[in-house]
Amino acid sequence: MNYDVIIVGAGPGGIFAAYELMQLKPELKVGVFESGHRLEQRRCPIDGKKIKSCIKCPTCSIMSGFGGAGAFSDGKYNITNDFGGSLYEYIGKKTALDLMNYVDTINMKYGGEGTKLYSTAGSKFKTICIQNDLHLLDASVRHLGTDINYVVLENLYHHLKDKVDFYFDTHVDTVRKTDDGYEIIAKDQTYTCKDCIISVGRIGSKWMESVCKQLDIPTKSSRVDIGVRVELPAEVFAHLTDELYESKIVYRTETYGDKVRTFCMNPKGAVVSENTNGIITVNGHSYEDPSRQTANTNFALLVAKNFSEPFKDSNGYGESIARLSNMLGGGVIVQRFGDLIRGRRSTPSRIEEAFITPTLNATPGDLSLVLPKRILDGIIEMIYALDKVAPGTANDDTLLYGVEVKFYNMEVEVNEKLESRYKGLYIIGDGSGITHSLSHASASGVHVARNIVQTDTLE
Ligand SMILES: Cc1cc2nc3c(=O)[nH]c(=O)nc-3n(C[C@H](O)[C@H](O)[C@H](O)COP(=O)(O)OP(=O)(O)OC[C@H]3O[C@@H](n4cnc5c(N)ncnc54)[C@H](O)[C@@H]3O)c2cc1C
Repeated sequence: MNYDVIIVGAGPGGIFAAYELMQLKPELKVGVFESGHRLEQRRCPIDGKKIKSCIKCPTCSIMSGFGGAGAFSDGKYNITNDFGGSLYEYIGKKTALDLMNYVDTINMKYGGEGTKLYSTAGSKFKTICIQNDLHLLDASVRHLGTDINYVVLENLYHHLKDKVDFYFDTHVDTVRKTDDGYEIIAKDQTYTCKDCIISVGRIGSKWMESVCKQLDIPTKSSRVDIGVRVELPAEVFAHLTDELYESKIVYRTETYGDKVRTFCMNPKGAVVSENTNGIITVNGHSYEDPSRQTANTNFALLVAKNFSEPFKDSNGYGESIARLSNMLGGGVIVQRFGDLIRGRRSTPSRIEEAFITPTLNATPGDLSLVLPKRILDGIIEMIYALDKVAPGTANDDTLLYGVEVKFYNMEVEVNEKLESRYKGLYIIGDGSGITHSLSHASASGVHVARNIVQTDTLE
């Protein structure tokens, strides 16, 4: 055996699995394989000057590399079972929360100390929201910010680099079952291990699907969330973001009874584009350092779509909508809310004349040509509903960037140990379809590491 444990993917799931394995059993031989670059080499070429939009790099530095999709994220660790994944359905609510709190202590130890933990507990906004038919979900949110999140990752890497073998720029092509464990093939080399943890995130969704097909691991099709990223002056949401930082608010539309929710709120943040397998969508983040903050707050408004027989390919549906926006706008499209409700496209001059400066250089256009009516109607209804608790949300100059798509990996069949039908093959993090967030993905890594060590000790 080359390794006791091989981890595929160095996102939060993989990193926390490696961390916990080394804490509990430092004598284990662990190899971590990562398609993307090492942390310091991760650089998105968009500089806003020479390169203004995504040039579709072969390896996207936003989504891949040490730190995974979370490396340049806002570093919001939501400690909750209410959103961010369904880990609790597998391991129980208490264990899930305990693990998320444990991850928080590690983040604090490796550079996050001094950052703020926000909480919805006892917030007056819960009442204000419910009075307006909006529902504020419960959570504690640790906001590391993009800058501190990076420092934590740097420190975790320094802690781990002499303890485990990291293989960067090394895409794992194949995972095979052997008599006594697993072999993986990467860059034409074969590596063997007893236990294998797959933590390939959203960017690895297609690869994960192919592994499940090859190994005949059952999967369930999942949902896709489609919507826009809203950007408005930070003052509009300041009363909420100052107290809660992030508020997850859910609204049920009157027209269709669909649920629309706010997602990934970034006070004084920036809107960014994201490349998932060549498809450009929109996202957002913000810095803890005041000198890097902007005058705007951004958040997503998303509508969840689940499909029933005969259509199963929810991600394919989301991709088609994103492709349509890429076709019309060459990437991300931006539209003023006022233009959208007047049924006209935004033009460069209309955007320029607005009383808000966009933080992403997107193509002014018409989102009604891209988003299905039902989704767009839901988003418009939600903007008017939010306007009641945050007046100004429905202003003409509110910017809507599209499309934002949250692709969910299909859910892979695993047991309460997050182990597939093959003993010693664990599938965790966003790649398993079970988690959709930093905290849940990290917690799933700690969970499998503890199980591996416990099983090893019992055998
Ligand atoms: C811009 C942005 C902002 C975000 N902000 C937040 C936030 O504030 N809070 C939050 O909770 N979540 C946020 N998220 C989501 C969060 O980053 C993910 O939920 C989290 O990173 C999932 O962790 P993971 O380890 O499961 O997967 P990932 O972080 O996606 O890591 C998977 C890794 O596996 C590698 N990989 C894939 N396939 C292979 C292969 N075959 N061989 C080798 N390596 C492979 C990839 O390169 C990647 O580095 C954000 C995401 C983005 C893109």
